[in-house]
Amino acid sequence: MNARPQAIVVVGASLAGLRAAEELRCEGFRGRITVVGDEVHAPYDRPPLSKQVLAGHWDADRLALTVGGDGGVDALDLDWRLGTRASGLDLRARRVLLAGGEWLDFDGLVIATGATPRRLPGSEGLAGVHTLRTLDDCLAVRAEVDAGARRLVVVGAGFIGAEVAATCRTRGLDVTILEALPVPLGAALGEEMGAVMADIHRDHGVDVRLGAAVAGLDGGVDGRVERVRLADGGTIEADLVVVGIGVVPNTAWLEGSGLTLDDGVVCDATTLAAPGVVGAGDVARWPSRRFGELMRVEHWDNAISMGAHAARRLLAWLDDEAAGGRSARRAEPYDPVPWFWSDQYDRKIQLAGRSAGADEVRVVDGSTDERRFVALYRRGDRVVGALAMNRPRQLLAFQRLIERGATWAEALAAPVPAAERPRQ
Ligand SMILES: Cc1cc2nc3c(=O)[nH]c(=O)nc-3n(C[C@H](O)[C@H](O)[C@H](O)COP(=O)(O)OP(=O)(O)OC[C@H]3O[C@@H](n4cnc5c(N)ncnc54)[C@H](O)[C@@H]3O)c2cc1C
Repeated sequence: MNARPQAIVVVGASLAGLRAAEELRCEGFRGRITVVGDEVHAPYDRPPLSKQVLAGHWDADRLALTVGGDGGVDALDLDWRLGTRASGLDLRARRVLLAGGEWLDFDGLVIATGATPRRLPGSEGLAGVHTLRTLDDCLAVRAEVDAGARRLVVVGAGFIGAEVAATCRTRGLDVTILEALPVPLGAALGEEMGAVMADIHRDHGVDVRLGAAVAGLDGGVDGRVERVRLADGGTIEADLVVVGIGVVPNTAWLEGSGLTLDDGVVCDATTLAAPGVVGAGDVARWPSRRFGELMRVEHWDNAISMGAHAARRLLAWLDDEAAGGRSARRAEPYDPVPWFWSDQYDRKIQLAGRSAGADEVRVVDGSTDERRFVALYRRGDRVVGALAMNRPRQLLAFQRLIERGATWAEALAAPVPAAERPRQ
């Protein structure tokens, strides 16, 4: 490690940023770590927002992100700049511009600014129309439900939309899902498995409308949303609309910095975006050798593992710079098998690996009718993904196979953990 005290700036005070800061300390970095975050809240966990918090089962105080080790987050000795937006980056001078005009010098920079929901054009300023990304978003939607909202229209059936639909349906609201694609969750799970998800929502009484394009939203004289207009001329009454039509990586503050921005901050295979700059979490894109694609992953688990990896990569770069390129630390590639879960009604859905571009999807354990199953995704002669519904232990077994690059034939022949064999 360099004898000179160094400064690292982390932009994005959430899962990837905090995990990076924690790893920097774990790896012995004793210099200053400044964490800049535009939300006023200390880092918190987002997955419960569309689940336990929206359901009214948890309050916000249960969401605080913690770290390992004695003393918790305080022991990391971080210099917090919350409620502060980074608005620019000067790569050559190695400094970050804050919205108030102040510059923060750095030796190393972690970019972990996540993503922001897309808005529905024409919905600005209409009360009762929400996206769900932040704690404040969640509390606003929950307040509407608590205040008696009855008719929810969810626009977009990705994971956030599907979870909001499930949680609000469980709370007793009339729920309509509008999805432009032929199935819900199609981008994440593919068509066959997306169709299973559509059935699950319908079984719970959700009106699932597929191939449905929204033409606009109408408000009443009080400025509240009253109905959703569809491109086919139909209308749906609504007193609450949640828009879940995907996210845009938060890279606007990096425009003109010289970093490569293309649906995220493009990093190399080791998470390095530029000399002394690494990217992590939802905002970062990197080439995966394992899957042969430029990946950007919007999952909780990836934010954690990539945050930690990026921190180690940054330290390797700083050591290298200090040692004139002769550092003992190695720059390892980042090439995980991504994994996520989603909770909808009483189903736990987990996907390891990739589903996009699959040549075949095959149920290898349980059945989709039973809604307890494992399905595998094949690309060529490889197994590239595994989807499990209420089958966590099996998912893990198949995830291991994907991690070691198993062939399709090996995956089909693999024993399924016996304890959870489907009940006949
Ligand atoms: C409602 C919800 C439910 C989810 N459920 C699941 C789930 O069940 N399973 C799963 O695997 N994943 C889930 N996720 C995804 C998971 O939470 C994200 O992948 C994870 O939060 C990404 O972490 P991150 O640190 O990369 O980005 P974020 O958590 O988005 O954090 C980025 C932070 O940077 C801040 N920021 C942005 N721009 C700037 C700037 N210019 N200056 C300063 N700060 C800035 C943002 O405000 C934000 O606080 C869910 C996400 C949401 C929103």
